[in-house]
Amino acid sequence: MTIRSHFDFIFLGAGCASLSLLLRLIRSEKFGDKKILLIDKDAKKSNDRTWCFWEKENGFFDEIVFRKWNTISFLSDDYNADMKIAPYQYKMIRGIDFYEYCFKEISKHRNIEFVQANIDEWDYQEKLLSIKLNDAEYRFDNTILFSSIYKDNSKGKKVIKLLQHFKGWIIETQKSSFDTQKATMMDFRINQNNGTSFVYVLPFDEKTALVEYTLFTKQLLEPEEYDEQLKNYIKSFLGIEHYKVSEIEFGVIPMTNEKFSFESNGWNIGTAGGQTKASSGYTFQFIQKKSQQIADCLIAGKSLKQIPQSPRRFNFYDNTLLEILYHNKLPGKQIFTTMFKKNKPQQVLRFLDNESSVKDELKIISSLPTWPFLKAAIKQL
Ligand SMILES: Cc1cc2nc3c(=O)[nH]c(=O)nc-3n(C[C@H](O)[C@H](O)[C@H](O)COP(=O)(O)OP(=O)(O)OC[C@H]3O[C@@H](n4cnc5c(N)ncnc54)[C@H](O)[C@@H]3O)c2cc1C
Repeated sequence: MTIRSHFDFIFLGAGCASLSLLLRLIRSEKFGDKKILLIDKDAKKSNDRTWCFWEKENGFFDEIVFRKWNTISFLSDDYNADMKIAPYQYKMIRGIDFYEYCFKEISKHRNIEFVQANIDEWDYQEKLLSIKLNDAEYRFDNTILFSSIYKDNSKGKKVIKLLQHFKGWIIETQKSSFDTQKATMMDFRINQNNGTSFVYVLPFDEKTALVEYTLFTKQLLEPEEYDEQLKNYIKSFLGIEHYKVSEIEFGVIPMTNEKFSFESNGWNIGTAGGQTKASSGYTFQFIQKKSQQIADCLIAGKSLKQIPQSPRRFNFYDNTLLEILYHNKLPGKQIFTTMFKKNKPQQVLRFLDNESSVKDELKIISSLPTWPFLKAAIKQL
């Protein structure tokens, strides 16, 4: 491994947050004379995740959007709806396309170096970074550090944490089985024996779809339980008997009221910087917004301390909802069903994106069962 002695920017982790920011810096053409180091334990060559999110206009990564839908379906026992979400579109980006796209661009810039190594530990103070990579220690001075390495600091503290965990199969069927015009965002008709759980179905074409079984619970399931639930769903709800599983995805996203700071031992970005929404696990678009803010600030030569935080009322809503889910005060199935049943989908999507108006929020909150929410809200205060 060769590491030059000086780098202007160092990125720990080369996942969604680091690459989203780095690509913006590259595109600005303002940092061609800066030395940039990117370190990740992984080569970033596998399709390790699929990102779904909604967006109104063309986004920064629109070129690599794999599929998009204008209609999303929500299904529950007493409420089924196909919802047109214009001006939004529900979009999907495959991890492998994202990594290839970013690294292709990075490889054109000789000022950027990628090192594949495990980061054992690091310390950063006064622009001085000492870092242990594969047991060897390196020091860099006068460098700006961005870290996207998430460490679970919740143990022993008064924080609550749920896991959003999911297993997805890309299935291929012999007959036409999927309606490509719509994506099933949440299907809550499945049994809730393991806690808040739903399935989403993202059709690639009439014979191929990603079917993902998702839970918001405290513990992971045994591996075979995810498979069992997926098999049941495909048979009982999709009515498909014959299919081939061509790819498998598994993931865990922390949903926690832990306080993350953007500035602490460098600049924390991505999930490590608190960009995962505590009540839903959605992260991709929050990373995009923050990356744009950071890039704008760096381009303008301003301090990153000036980046405004998301209004605090959204933390309050997230923590309230998390509290309810964590303590099983109301089933998640009931909360999400009511939310979608009694509000316009665009209103709900804006709310989940932290972009709603107070008026929207009052409408959504008043549609939910008052007592459990009031009690959980008081606890937050
Ligand atoms: C399977 C999966 C699917 C998801 N789907 C969605 C979705 O549909 N929509 C959405 O909004 N969010 C989704 N998320 C949540 C979130 O968007 C992703 O986790 C996103 O990748 C977070 O970006 P990040 O940069 O914070 O972390 P990552 O993208 O995970 O990047 C962190 C990087 O750090 C590296 N790293 C970690 N530890 C070390 C170490 N010790 N040494 C060296 N390198 C290290 C990792 O290899 C990784 O490349 C999903 C998450 C997963 C896991």
